[in-house]
Amino acid sequence: MNRVRLIIFNAALGPLDYKVPQGMTVEYGSVVVAPLGPRQIIGIVWEEERLPADSVPDAKLRPLLEALPIPPLRPELRRLIEWTADYYCANLASVARMVLASGGAMRGPATMTEYRLSGAEPERMTPQRAVAMDALQNEQASIRELAELASVSEGVLRGLVGHGVLEPVQVDIDRPYPRADPGHDQPKLSADQQEVADVIVEAVEAREFAPFLLDGVTGSGKTETYFEPVAAALRGGRQVLVLLPEIALTEAFLRRFEERFGAVPIVWHSSLKSTERRRAWRAIASGEAQVVVGARSALFLPYANLGLIVVDEAHEISFKQDEGVRYNARDVAVMRARFEKIPVVLASATPALESLQMAESGIYRKLDLPSRFGGATLPTISTIDLTEHKPERGRWLAPELVEALKDRLEKGEQSLLFLNRRGYAPLTLCRNCGFRFECPNCSAWLVEHRFSRRLACHHCGHETEPPATCPDCGEPDCLVACGPGVERIADEVAEILPEARVAVVTSDTLNSPEKAADFVAQAEAQAIDVIVGTQLVTKGFHFPELTLVGVVDADLGLEGGDLRAAERTYQQVAQVAGRAGRGSKPGEVFIQTRHTDAPVIAALAAGDRDAFYEAETEARRGAGAPPFGRWAAIIVSSEDENEAKEAARAIGGTQPRINDVMILGPAPAPLSLLRGRYRYRLLINARRSAQVQDIIRDWLGQLNFPRGVRVSVDIDPYSFV
Ligand code: ADP
Ligand code: ZN
Repeated sequence: MNRVRLIIFNAALGPLDYKVPQGMTVEYGSVVVAPLGPRQIIGIVWEEERLPADSVPDAKLRPLLEALPIPPLRPELRRLIEWTADYYCANLASVARMVLASGGAMRGPATMTEYRLSGAEPERMTPQRAVAMDALQNEQASIRELAELASVSEGVLRGLVGHGVLEPVQVDIDRPYPRADPGHDQPKLSADQQEVADVIVEAVEAREFAPFLLDGVTGSGKTETYFEPVAAALRGGRQVLVLLPEIALTEAFLRRFEERFGAVPIVWHSSLKSTERRRAWRAIASGEAQVVVGARSALFLPYANLGLIVVDEAHEISFKQDEGVRYNARDVAVMRARFEKIPVVLASATPALESLQMAESGIYRKLDLPSRFGGATLPTISTIDLTEHKPERGRWLAPELVEALKDRLEKGEQSLLFLNRRGYAPLTLCRNCGFRFECPNCSAWLVEHRFSRRLACHHCGHETEPPATCPDCGEPDCLVACGPGVERIADEVAEILPEARVAVVTSDTLNSPEKAADFVAQAEAQAIDVIVGTQLVTKGFHFPELTLVGVVDADLGLEGGDLRAAERTYQQVAQVAGRAGRGSKPGEVFIQTRHTDAPVIAALAAGDRDAFYEAETEARRGAGAPPFGRWAAIIVSSEDENEAKEAARAIGGTQPRINDVMILGPAPAPLSLLRGRYRYRLLINARRSAQVQDIIRDWLGQLNFPRGVRVSVDIDPYSFV
């Protein structure tokens, strides 16, 4: 090729043509460096006919500067990038950027310098140095990463390097990973498990596209079951990707994987160190990486030779990305499997209605694990009507639940209380004047966190210390907490059961893989009696001595205008209930609610999953909601309130009139101010068959907005705030 078209890494610019200089060879998918004005820019060589651009005569083309020493992106991946950009109305370059997720992997040396404590003491100790040395025990990373870890400036650390307190270590970035052995410790599967495993193994060996919905009750051993097709892929020399919804789950998974395969898999998530990221990326692209376990971003990596994708806890909404490219990793995983011609397994005890519908219509093959492994029974579930069985004043746990907690503590068994609210209290106000603490950047209350003594916004991260006096009326000691968060429930447990060892489990407390591993180890060693947690505790964990689950407020998720509120409540409660009685002792679940007759609560209490799904299916069908109709959202934002409003109006004013497509709004978003930006939303509801993306592209394509306005499109939205 002597002339090429590139997708270039600049979202504002379309594809550009370049000349290939003498002596350079490139092919489709090659990653190259090209000149752009006075700068250099990364680009990917693409098929010209798939990428319309203005034609520039040969004589005017500038030459490429360099072809980077990495394998070209395979056609399967190029098609996936195109599909994703097209389906989610996103920029090709933005999608492609997710593939080249490690700048370091593209170039640079194969070794790099990291630093660690040498054991020496500085000549002069300063508070900053003490903080750094304390925080960096057992850490080794670049200066920049260490500075971040210790929350000190890079200057402080350079000083420590000068004093020999931090010593340099040369790291071979691309050192190989330990090999997983498919035959290391193969478990004996139950008959049910074996049957399911055989079907998927066959598909792995056949090397063809095959989407499976693995629908197994909590504790049925879905992991052990899909480990067999993982082993089959390894035997065939092919790579496997396992997507997990939460890094907190990764640790437990890694251990199970290691027990089964004799080596830990490669981990991929957004907080990897740059050296780890580079090493993983290169191993994935070269084909050396065997199994990758990752968050949704692992889906777009350039696997050389993928043989199987597993999406575990596939119903989880964290697979949906709500910024940048707004994609759903569960759905894109199926598309990737299709382009790669490989099987994909969506595993869940509470599948999304969309997934069940795909199975019903024969597009996915449904595989069932209807009973728990090893004879464990599913827990008994009952509701506590809070309107009749009221907790004591200022408390949140009803007498029946309190009795059950006491009973478990006496028996030495574990309990879990679930409340999907971080912090101590969701709202703080002044008893004297009624002043409410609100975030200056968002239309949201500040949440009190007592452990860390701060008022925090859960949307933008804004934090302040709780003041001694009301900022409005000046009254001292007048702040009252309204409503419970997990910390407050933990306090209540401490009052009721002073001798109980209580652990609060949220993204605040389990914010690193080490802390997650620590928690799992403690819970398994029975060093914890009562776990109080948010949605983080609803999934994945397997604690055999845990026999009681209390859902503190099942109504919480039903509030607000979320289209999937009932489904999400069902999933969360069923999943958290599924943590009870996974060992030899039976489990018991109490659901506190004010709406015992709400269909979702009634179905949960009756353990009647089918009834819930049937009712929900009918409701969705009636509303033209997914999977029967489609939704899309347009979100308009600006730091200038008027500008946002005007832009939203302009969009609303030019809305197309098309049969079977209903457009709602513009209206101020429920979160009308977020991170200092004013927000408006439009919601599009269409028939399944409507070409929503084309409609939106045509519609927005003819409009121009001021520079401060951001217009984003959310196809198949999950968040409606
Ligand atoms: P799920 O993900 O379906 O809720 P898990 O995969 O966590 O269930 O399995 C529940 C427990 O049963 C785990 O401790 C797992 O190790 C164990 N288990 C499942 N299947 C087997 C098997 N075939 N042999 C031994 N242990 C198993
Ligand atoms: Zn905020």
